Amino acid sequence: MSRQKSALKRKDALLLIMIIVGAAIVGTVMWFMRNAEKPERVTVKVDGNVVYSESLSKDTEYKVDGYDGGYNIVVVQDSKVSVKEADCPDKVCMNSGQISKSGDTIVCMPHKVVVEIEGGEGTVDSVAK
Ligand SMILES: [Zn+2]
Repeated sequence: MSRQKSALKRKDALLLIMIIVGAAIVGTVMWFMRNAEKPERVTVKVDGNVVYSESLSKDTEYKVDGYDGGYNIVVVQDSKVSVKEADCPDKVCMNSGQISKSGDTIVCMPHKVVVEIEGGEGTVDSVAK
């Protein structure tokens, strides 16, 4: 009798684990699907020319060659974009902090560099690569 009872309990535990694992899988899939619906991109322009355009979800460190021979190091991490380093005189781009929303920009006037987040909530402005 007691053996049967414990077997039943184990079945219950197994079922519970399956439900938890199943819910975790469904949750993960839904999370990915929701992310896929927001194809936000990071676009870097130098003097109006697109030099970099990648998904916001792709972590990277990109060195931008500025208009006057200077540079800006753009960092994309955890869907946030910032300028880590630059040799411009004003450092406005570095002091802009992190941007993460569609339409946000970081501008470096001396280097004519514009870092912009595009896409997302309906404002899909497709950039031809
Ligand atoms: Zn700057």
